[in-house]
Amino acid sequence: MSEKYDVIVIGAGIIGACVGFELAKKGKKVLNVDKLSGSGFGSTSGSCAIIRLHYSTTDGVAMAREGYYYWLDWARYLGKVDPTGLVKYINTGCMVFKSEKNNYLKNVMASLEEMHVCYEELEPEGIEKLVPIADTRLFGPPVTMDDSRFGEPTGGTIAGAVYIPESGLISDPKQSVHNVQVAGENMSGKYLFNANVVEILKKDGRCAGIKLTDGTKIQAPVVINVAGPHSYQINEMAGVIEGMNIKTRPLKQEVCHVPAPEGYDYNNLGTIISDSDIGCYSRPEIGNHILIGSEDPECDTLEYVDDPDTYNQNFTDQWTTQVMREAQRLKGLPIPGGGKTQGIVDLYDASDDWIPIYDKSDLPGFYMAVGTSGNQYKNAPVVGVLMAELVEACENGHDHDHNPVKFNMHYTKRECNIGFYSRLREINMNSSFSVVG
Ligand SMILES: Cc1cc2nc3c(=O)[nH]c(=O)nc-3n(C[C@H](O)[C@H](O)[C@H](O)COP(=O)(O)OP(=O)(O)OC[C@H]3O[C@@H](n4cnc5c(N)ncnc54)[C@H](O)[C@@H]3O)c2cc1C
Repeated sequence: MSEKYDVIVIGAGIIGACVGFELAKKGKKVLNVDKLSGSGFGSTSGSCAIIRLHYSTTDGVAMAREGYYYWLDWARYLGKVDPTGLVKYINTGCMVFKSEKNNYLKNVMASLEEMHVCYEELEPEGIEKLVPIADTRLFGPPVTMDDSRFGEPTGGTIAGAVYIPESGLISDPKQSVHNVQVAGENMSGKYLFNANVVEILKKDGRCAGIKLTDGTKIQAPVVINVAGPHSYQINEMAGVIEGMNIKTRPLKQEVCHVPAPEGYDYNNLGTIISDSDIGCYSRPEIGNHILIGSEDPECDTLEYVDDPDTYNQNFTDQWTTQVMREAQRLKGLPIPGGGKTQGIVDLYDASDDWIPIYDKSDLPGFYMAVGTSGNQYKNAPVVGVLMAELVEACENGHDHDHNPVKFNMHYTKRECNIGFYSRLREINMNSSFSVVG
């Protein structure tokens, strides 16, 4: 391939595909490259694809609010219908438990109000009415399985919850990337698979393209790192890590799939639950199963991995711990043993404060949309717009580091200050320091 491009996007996950699509819409000649054999085969394929609106910061809520409308308006966003099928947004609602850890959701409720998101405050009786199999006793703060207190109530009842009816999930995260690929190709975007980037080319003090394992060089004045859990490797190749105050690391996650309690139609009556009292989130999963993920409580040892290509992809005691924690909350939840563990093992690209980095770098022409920390699938279409605005402004000479680029979001009309996601920011202490973001 000796062609030249305006922009190369490294990665064809949901974020990379949306970034490529938006730049193609701006008339740029764009190439998405991925070392895997198709789009969405990376960490996006392991995503729980939850679309929820509660975040710890107002900017987080605003981004999710904007992203939500793209999923509702999916076919129109794409402009071209993927002949292999469009994904569906399935509304389930989301119940977030109040706890000391999340400051009883005071900041979250203020942000939801600012973004005109309807929510309902529930007392324990309201929680039981919504999910009759819920045990509203307090079990937290979470402890590990070897603690004598594990599984025991700690006295009293949960302080209540916030129920946000506008929340749900996407039917098939991998297919959603294919949908965006088809839309991007319709705008003349190109995709190259089985193409492993091993070097970022430089010329005259700026980024000049990429080199692949087989020695192929592809030229472009702009390269964007959207490599998911491999993002730190690409940043290393570009030599830009020194110039970043916030860093990213791959973090192993185990997601459990277990049958719903006997006789309860969780598929139709269940809801997403974010439960910091037990340190888990859950959602309905096809086959009347419940999907259980971790909210990364302080007692757990987070398993950062050195090499995202060779980590232990087996379930461990962490799987059992999460199911047992959820069984505290949902009466009658079976705890499968004897090799019947089901679910997903995958990696987050975790940033130091669990808030992503959407930014330029110290190498002119080299940009990044990284550190998505297990919580940015829902925002991908907005990130596409954000990165396209950022690249356009910076390539036109705008000094983003000193005067952050801003743009008005399409649906909510709110101003998005891209500086919020800067690589140079101090750690954001308003973050939950968990997947909640
Ligand atoms: C278990 C799990 C559950 C999650 N649940 C949710 C959720 O419910 N809601 C939510 O909003 N978010 C969720 N997330 C987060 C969300 O899925 C991610 O933020 C998002 O999918 C990241 O997309 P991406 O395009 O940045 O990365 P990826 O999908 O990982 O894509 C990166 C691509 O880059 C490619 N690549 C890497 N290195 C190279 C190289 N050297 N050369 C060429 N190509 C390369 C990879 O092959 C890969 O395909 C979850 C994530 C995980 C892992």
